[in-house]
Amino acid sequence: MKEYTIQVNESCCTLCRRCQLGCSNAYLREFNLDKANIKIEVTGLAVRIHFTDECRKCGICVDHCLYGALEMMAQGAA
Ligand code: SF4
Ligand code: SF4
Repeated sequence: MKEYTIQVNESCCTLCRRCQLGCSNAYLREFNLDKANIKIEVTGLAVRIHFTDECRKCGICVDHCLYGALEMMAQGAA
């Protein structure tokens, strides 16, 4: 089975949090930013997006991102 990673492009992130809401709703049936497996940290003007160890690389958060900040990449793809 093909393995995927999620590539992030923080410069496109609008901080809308749709990705986090999609993740927590999919796995916990609640809209809870703190329980999402995708984390978004803001320090001043800098945005950092990362994933917890529990992330399943399912791509639900990618589907919820309307701004091109997240992209599914097949592992080994250029
Ligand atoms: S890939 Fe899936 S499990 Fe990981 S953060 Fe995105 S929605 Fe959550
Ligand atoms: S859905 Fe996309 S633009 Fe919105 S917070 Fe998540 S990564 Fe950023």
